[in-house]
Amino acid sequence: MRILLSNDDGYLAPGLAALHRELTRLGDVAVVAPEQNCSGASNSLTLNRPLSLFNAPSGFRYVNGTPTDCVHIALTGVLDYRPDIVVSGVNNGQNMGEDTLYSGTVAAATEGYLFGLPSFAFSLSDKDWQHVDDAARVAVDIIEHYVTHPLPAPFLLNVNIPNRPYDELDTWRVTRLGKRHPSQPVICQENPRGEPIYWIGGTGEARDASAGTDFHAVAHGEVSITPLQLDLTDLTTLDALHHWTTLTEHRP
Ligand code: MN
Repeated sequence: MRILLSNDDGYLAPGLAALHRELTRLGDVAVVAPEQNCSGASNSLTLNRPLSLFNAPSGFRYVNGTPTDCVHIALTGVLDYRPDIVVSGVNNGQNMGEDTLYSGTVAAATEGYLFGLPSFAFSLSDKDWQHVDDAARVAVDIIEHYVTHPLPAPFLLNVNIPNRPYDELDTWRVTRLGKRHPSQPVICQENPRGEPIYWIGGTGEARDASAGTDFHAVAHGEVSITPLQLDLTDLTTLDALHHWTTLTEHRP
């Protein structure tokens, strides 16, 4: 199996190294990851300047761009083959509920999905690397399970793994996204010139963490696996707006 691996924490992140180590058991792994930490980059492409590709001593390649840039250029010119799957992570911190819209980890996998490939995003539930090796083992277990139980491709699986030892990560739960409260307030400070500066606040607490959600699973020590789709169409409002299509006929 040929695997394209990326992340959003950057090519030096322990989560990337841990996942690479485990993935090599499954096949050839090409790493194309961002040079800098791009957490929160979402699906952004760099269009106002060219991108450069560098080779790290680790054998990883890195790009002075976003996670989406990395997977995009890998799939459209850097790799001279089409990988079988795209993998992103392991991220430093959870990506649940609305996090998935901001996440660079999910975005890297999303780019693979957009190119028609089976794609996986893996995140560790806490912002430390305590059990990152355990999470990487679980990630590879999940990919191995897919290999022996194939799904119709493409698909995009968003996986959140509790920060626990491997032996305690034996329950997988297929979930839907929960919901968060709005973000915490922006943090305003003053720079040395006396001008105001703003730090984006932390994520909101879970608002829908009911049974069946990613929040609920992770809170109960289960590995959460959420299949994602990209069609953002609001079908309820689509219905309610139906008559607007003819509105121009009624203009005076
Ligand atoms: Mn990150």
